[in-house]
Amino acid sequence: MAAAGTSAIVAAMASSVLGRSIRPSATLALNERAALLAAQGQPVVHLGGGEPKNKVPLSAVVAAGARLTSGDVKYTPTAGTTGLRQAIVRHTEERYGRQVALENVIVSSGAKQSIYNALLSIVDPQDEVVILAPYWVSYPEMVRLAYGEPVVVTPEDGGFVPRLEEVEAALGASTKALIVNSPNNPSGAVYPDDLVRGLVELCEERGVYLLMDDIYHGLVFDGVRAASAYAFTDLDVDDSHVIVVNGVSKTYGMTGFRIGWAIAPRPLVEVMTNIQAQTTSCPASVSMAAAEAALRGPQSVAESLRLATEAQRDVLLQELRSFEGVRVTPPQGTFYCLPDFRAYSLDSEELSRFLLDKALVVTVPGKEFGAEGHLRLSFCGPAKDVVEGVRRMRWALDPSAPNEISIGGRRLVRDWL
Ligand code: PMP
Repeated sequence: MAAAGTSAIVAAMASSVLGRSIRPSATLALNERAALLAAQGQPVVHLGGGEPKNKVPLSAVVAAGARLTSGDVKYTPTAGTTGLRQAIVRHTEERYGRQVALENVIVSSGAKQSIYNALLSIVDPQDEVVILAPYWVSYPEMVRLAYGEPVVVTPEDGGFVPRLEEVEAALGASTKALIVNSPNNPSGAVYPDDLVRGLVELCEERGVYLLMDDIYHGLVFDGVRAASAYAFTDLDVDDSHVIVVNGVSKTYGMTGFRIGWAIAPRPLVEVMTNIQAQTTSCPASVSMAAAEAALRGPQSVAESLRLATEAQRDVLLQELRSFEGVRVTPPQGTFYCLPDFRAYSLDSEELSRFLLDKALVVTVPGKEFGAEGHLRLSFCGPAKDVVEGVRRMRWALDPSAPNEISIGGRRLVRDWL
């Protein structure tokens, strides 16, 4: 007891007020508990994941291998290799129909670092950054790390897409940026074109940076296309307040390579480059070789990943249909769904823990995303996990489901409903 108490005091003394104010990742805590259960031989089903299960594109593997065997694995220019930046310029032209210069592109160690660098480059202490709920868990914490104040807009209608007027009402004299993530983690919603147009016009008019987190831009279903902010501004990238962040993590399932990028006005890229130079020097050269090859290589890899994800989404929607009480808004992109479980519990953390303990299913509490009463379910895993996960959740929560279930060969009886 005494030893633990002492180490807590030492830790508190050694760490900063800002550092201590940053929330631990609930996802990681849940994953740790799930990993512990799995290590004990428990048949855990994971609906909490955040990465596709595909093998990374062969072109990326070959390019990374070639870079390694060349033995030439050294520091690169801070903003990334010219080859990868050129590939990103081409990608931006093809995907967004927008011509940008090499100097508008900065590559980072994942889109996460791109967003953080952008915020560090924009935000002064107490500046406000507007975030739209449901939001990706890292945005508010990143804003705080930059000594800014996150301002959350929660759609009044209880849905996943805000009205333009609601966003406008949140912009004030201290607002420096607005973060938009469409397709959206955690809801899978794709914001309508008119809303994106309105947000672009609003931000350009007010001189507020519009940070478009487009990491799921290519992962869309049902023929839907996620709007590009560039479609709604005629300003040159250097004069515009639009910043576009993207990367190879989701579209190509290359999460472990840690490559993302930002397209921004040149003066901002310069600031971001200085920050990167003083913190990480540059992204990893092997990873950049891989990312360049993925962008330049056959795009059928991304397309098959998209199609497989869409099929897994359909399986999840089909399974959830039999779940009385769960209200589902079908995702139009990403690999996440955010069903409303308020019929069963108003406390999503408690519900998530309950489902892990009783049914060995990993879910993520909606509270983490500013959507209390919901659970985020991932469909990036195999369809059989999706089916099994929902079957177990129904057993645990739905009185109309049979009260006996077999999990990993063990017969379990529900005795709490
Ligand atoms: N933005 C969102 C909305 C995400 O969900 C993620 C990954 N979970 C990222 C950015 C970061 O992606 P990367 O792996 O490129 O850092």
